[in-house]
Parts: sequence; C-alpha cells; structure tokens
Amino acid sequence: MKTINSIYIDGAFVKPHGTELFDLVNPTTNTLIGRVVLADETDARNAIAAAKAAFKTFSKTSVAERKEYLQRLYEATSGRKDELVEIMVKEYGGTLQFCRMSTQNAVNAFTRAIETLDQFSFERKVSESKVVLEPLGVVGIITPWNSSNSFIGSKLSMGIAAGCTTVIKPSEMSASQTEIFTQCLHEAGLPPGVINIVTGLGQVVGNEITVSKDIAKISFTGSTAVGKTIAKAAADTMKRVTLELGGKSPNVILDDADFQKAIPMAVTAAFQNSGQACIVGSRLLVPERRLAEVEELIKEAVSKTVKVGDPAKEDTTIGPMVSKKQYDRVQSYIKLGIEEGAELLTGGEGHPQGLEAGNFVKATVFSNVKPHMRIAQEEIFGPVLSILPYKDEEEAIEIANNTAYGLMAYVSSEDRQRALRVAGRIDAGRVVINGLKHDPLAPFGGFKQSGIGREYGVYGLEAYLEPKTLIQ
Ligand code: NAD
Repeated sequence: MKTINSIYIDGAFVKPHGTELFDLVNPTTNTLIGRVVLADETDARNAIAAAKAAFKTFSKTSVAERKEYLQRLYEATSGRKDELVEIMVKEYGGTLQFCRMSTQNAVNAFTRAIETLDQFSFERKVSESKVVLEPLGVVGIITPWNSSNSFIGSKLSMGIAAGCTTVIKPSEMSASQTEIFTQCLHEAGLPPGVINIVTGLGQVVGNEITVSKDIAKISFTGSTAVGKTIAKAAADTMKRVTLELGGKSPNVILDDADFQKAIPMAVTAAFQNSGQACIVGSRLLVPERRLAEVEELIKEAVSKTVKVGDPAKEDTTIGPMVSKKQYDRVQSYIKLGIEEGAELLTGGEGHPQGLEAGNFVKATVFSNVKPHMRIAQEEIFGPVLSILPYKDEEEAIEIANNTAYGLMAYVSSEDRQRALRVAGRIDAGRVVINGLKHDPLAPFGGFKQSGIGREYGVYGLEAYLEPKTLIQ
C-alpha cells in the first residue's frame, strides 16, 4: 500500500517536515487504499516563502506570458484525465459520470481563464483618472473534498491569470487526487514558487495560511462554519477573502410548470454528486393543492432514474458518502426528519440492501416538510430531499428565502417572465430557470451565509486584483 510522502514547494517535490499519517479510505468498501504524510506549519511557512519570492517576478509577467502558462497547464492536465477520474472514483466515491464532469471542469478552468483574459482590461479610465488593476500578492487556496481538483483548477487558474502566486491547501481526504493533479501542474513548467501545494489538516496548515502576514488573500470553498473561522482569523491581517460556503437551495415549481419535466429534474438536482454538492436543490417547493401528484411523480422518478451503488459502474447515479463520518451525519438527519414529523416518501435510515460494506445511503425524500424543521434549514450534504408545500407564489418566495443560505435556486414555470420575476425576488447568487444549466464564465457565489465574493469569469478575476487609481 502506498504512502504519499511529498509536498510541492518552489517547483520541486519535497518530503514534508510534518510526520503525522492520515488514512485514505475507499468509501465504496471502507478499505484502506493508502496513507498520506501530512504537512505541518513549517511546510506551510516554506510554501509561503517560496510563493512570496516568486511573486516579485511573476507579478510583472505580461498577459501573453500568463496565457501561455495557462495553455500549458491545460495541456498537462488534459493528458491524464482518465487517471484523475479513476482515482477520484476510488478515493472519493463519486459516480463515473460526476467524476468525469468534475475532472473536465478542473482541466477547462485553465482555458476559461484564457477566455476571461481575452475580454479583460487591466487598465481603465475612470472619470479623469487611470485605474490599474494589480495582482494582490500570494493567494492562499483552501479547498474541500467534494470536487477537489475542480476547485483547485478554478481558483489557481484565476490566480495565475491575475499574476498572483499561490499556496494551495487541499483537503487531506483528497490526497491521492491531489498527488496526480500536482504532477500534471509540475509538468506544465511554470516558474518555481508560483504554485505550491501542501496537503495537511485545516487547523494546522489551513490556519497557518490564514494568519500569515505574507498571504494577501484567501480563496476558500468549504463549510459555512469553517468559512466564519477563516474570515475572523483573516481579519487581523486585513486579508481579502472569497468564501464559497454551504447551501440549502430551493427548487421552486410554480403551478404553471410542466410537472412531467420539472419533477424528475428536481430529483436530479437534489441527488447530483450523491447529494454532496453545495448547489443541490435540497428543498423542493410545490403548490399545496398538487402535493399528491408531485409525490407520485417523485416516487416514479426515484424508482426509474436513481440507482445507488458502485460508483465505478456507468449506470450508478448515487455513490457512497465520502466517509463514515459523513454517512453518520446524513443518517442522523434522516432520523431527525422522522422525529420532526416529516413524512418519509422514499428511502429512510440504514444502508440500501446489499450495500452494507460502504458508506451508502438510501435516496431519501421527505414530504410535507415544514419550513421551521431542521431538515429544511440545515445543509445535510447527502441524498436527502425535502418537499415543502406552499399556498401561493408569495408564500413560495417567503419559504425560498427562509434559510440562512443563499447560494443557488431553481425556478420552473412555463411563463418565462413569471419565472424571471420570481427569480428576481429570491436571495441567491445564481438562479437557474427551467433546468440545470451551468455557466462557467458567469459569476458564482452566495448571498447571506453562503459566502462572500464571486468566482468565475471577469468577476472571479477581479477578486485577485487590487485597483490603483493614478491621478495625473
Ligand atoms: P470544510 O469546511 O470542513 O473544509 C474545507 C477545507 O477547509 C478543508 O481543506 C479543511 O481542511 C479546511 N479547514 C478546516 N478547518 C480550517 C481552519 N480552521 N482554517 C483553515 N482551513 C480549515 O468543508 P468540507 O467538509 O471539506 O466540504 C463540504 C462543505 O463545503 C459543505 O458545507 C459545502 O456546502 C461546501 N462547499 C461549498 C461550495 C461552494 O462553491 N459554495 C462548493 C463545494 C462545497
């Protein structure tokens, strides 16, 4: 069995100073697949020093040079996509379909950054002055386990496009995926110190990056709880922060929607990435008088389109939860939903039959969920959907906005103007009308406790830059 015993600092793979071992477990079987030696504070400091030194010259590179680097990163990561997918399925337990998409997103991030640069100006005339946008400095990138390389790709690509250097702290649970991705990034041959990758614990390496005076900005994706810790710790050095946090996204089905289309789509929206995604539509809001019809359509869609099982199989739609801890967490919410008095429509507690070895959860749908219930308020991060009936459009909007979160929302209606009007009143950074479309160049981020700042495209790039006004 393999032990990963290297981190990436100043253009080279080096042995970590840290010595603590972390077990890497296949969530499909709960068997050990390897170990990683965790980086510590010293490693983080070494990575920060390398990035700080590299910033002096990298910040002065031309846009053309940075586009060339991004192109090389795209080519280097494209070359090992199949391997990246395979290890992601094994280590994370994501379905083949999801891991392919996620890996493609990781790779495409680099060409999207090139496209963004093509439409971006680092100098603007404002009033009588010239405004120049300068790279912020060394950026600390902290990512979660649920789509590890795609988050690294999207943040790193924008950092490079801006002329920043980076210290990346991926989740320790994604160490095998990180190892291969790092080898690809190394192959692209960027100047030493521009990319540094130190896998370690959040409270150790993540904290060191967050408090360091030499880090200008943190770009974080993860839970709202950790996002708050980071925002507080970053305040002492007045770091810029981009925080992509949790969600409890509403999927509002208006009474004139095409239910035959919208309800099966709601099942897909709720169970994408096995429910372990910040963007899942985990609250389905439906007209009260059509609840019985919705329940039938949901049962039909779950039985026809959802398959829980081995994530390496082409037809699987829900894989295991990433860890035993995550499995227990999701189970505790299913138990809670029953205790709170919600009606169990499909799924329920325990493993699906025949899948007892891994961290598999039944595709679970609760009906008649009340807005105040904890299963309607808290992020579960598993395949658990809550159906909330509403009386009229006004009440639908009120329920949709009645959580601490505001990351995503979905609205279905046959009347486009009506859908847009409702979308305009929902507190969310992104609202998708009639479907599950994604736009990787349009801004992404949260209202309320779903975060601060935006990623992707020009909004994402601006978050790595500091405007300087020149009055002449
Ligand atoms: P998490 O918050 O536990 O960890 C995220 C990262 O932060 C990890 O690398 C972790 O090691 C690190 N970390 C932990 N404590 C830290 C500290 N004190 N200082 C600095 N870093 C620290 O999240 P997770 O469990 O890995 O991921 C799931 C969560 O991520 C969910 O809440 C989900 O909604 C959220 N998420 C949000 C988005 C988005 O774009 N909004 C996308 C994916 C996931």
